[in-house]
Amino acid sequence: MSYFSYQNGALHAENTSLSSIAAQFGTPTYVYSKAALTDHFLAYADACTAGGRPATDSLVCYSVKSNSNLAVLQVLNQLGSGFDIVSGGELLRVLAAGGDPRKVIFSGVGKTRDEMRLALSHDILCFNVESIPELHRLNEVAGEMGKTAAISLRVNPNVDAKTHPYISTGLKDNKFGVAYEDALDCYRTAASLPHINVSGIDCHIGSQLLDDAPLLEALDKVIELVDQLASENIALHHLDIGGGIGITYDDEKPVAVSAYLGRLFARIDAWREEKYQGIPLKVLFEPGRSIVGNAGVLLTEVQYLKYGASKNFAVVDAAMNDLMRPAMYEAWHGVQAVLECNVDAASHTYDVVGPICESGDWLARERVLAVSQGDLLAFQSAGAYGMTMASNYNTRGRAAEVMVDGDNQYLVRKREETSDLFALESMLP
Ligand SMILES: *Cc1c(COP(=O)(O)O)cnc(C)c1O
Repeated sequence: MSYFSYQNGALHAENTSLSSIAAQFGTPTYVYSKAALTDHFLAYADACTAGGRPATDSLVCYSVKSNSNLAVLQVLNQLGSGFDIVSGGELLRVLAAGGDPRKVIFSGVGKTRDEMRLALSHDILCFNVESIPELHRLNEVAGEMGKTAAISLRVNPNVDAKTHPYISTGLKDNKFGVAYEDALDCYRTAASLPHINVSGIDCHIGSQLLDDAPLLEALDKVIELVDQLASENIALHHLDIGGGIGITYDDEKPVAVSAYLGRLFARIDAWREEKYQGIPLKVLFEPGRSIVGNAGVLLTEVQYLKYGASKNFAVVDAAMNDLMRPAMYEAWHGVQAVLECNVDAASHTYDVVGPICESGDWLARERVLAVSQGDLLAFQSAGAYGMTMASNYNTRGRAAEVMVDGDNQYLVRKREETSDLFALESMLP
């Protein structure tokens, strides 16, 4: 089901017209669908409990960095989601949205002492440790606080996720996790530290994966390690396979979440049946994009049309500071005119660009559109890594965010005012 569709020639989010949202809140504005968010989360939750598997055997930890708006976190929290965070700031967001720190796991290669203290003070579920020095620092900080930190090691299974190099994280040359060959030694070190409690193992090999074969390959390598650890009496309580399932931006056909989880649990069940009958081992997931990516669009207004010798431009009021993905990864986003048919405009091929003083400030290239100045456009699939990557470049306030629920629309983040942008600055005396 699509949550963004034309009704009587006008693009809607659920039952709310995007034109009415633009009229009320202006542009550029991110618009999210609560029903889409809910359905995408439930695809994971339902696959986790398929065949009568108890809900306590798994935990879906939504990756907060993909979209950290409090209302998004609130909706997911109410559905029972856990959270995968990569900063102390994200932990505070989860708590502000009512999230349970016992369902929070903390990933990232650069955790500071302050962030560790904050997370320990809230007794989060687990730190996903990415290096030996981090392990020692965490042991120290936990010791100072009289606490024990539950950890999993992020292992780098060295599988090729076959995705964009900037979002591939499981190859041995990148900065994430500990090398597969070093993992056993790292676990032995972890097990010897007094304020560390070895709890799990995790990996996350990349993002926008269309096929689950690399994920299942990573799972096999993780399983091998769990076996080796068990033979050394290091027993784990959970196995975290990360996130990374892709979405359709254009004509991609990503594996269905239910099919992927079905295959994954089949392997895990067979292995556990053989070796670990009756021993609990929770399975964790860290999805981001596949939950929120296609639950949002970026609404923008055409400011000017420019016709040139070799290119035409539609200059809109959204820019690379609002939606960074095209400039950063040459990502493709679908563009739809909010009014399906503009009888006053002829079709032309446009590059859709923003007002920022960079040639890299483009949002879509070579799209056939029949638009006039003042028309509204919607960039599709903008719910993930859209607003969270937004900046204030060119002293542009960040966009408003609206969540639609049926025919209700809620402003879930006000548009930033210019005075907000330099409120923290001061001039010399
Ligand atoms: C970004 C990230 C995710 C989420 O990835 P998606 O591709 O959005 O599902 C999960 N785990 C970690 C450690 C991440 O950094």
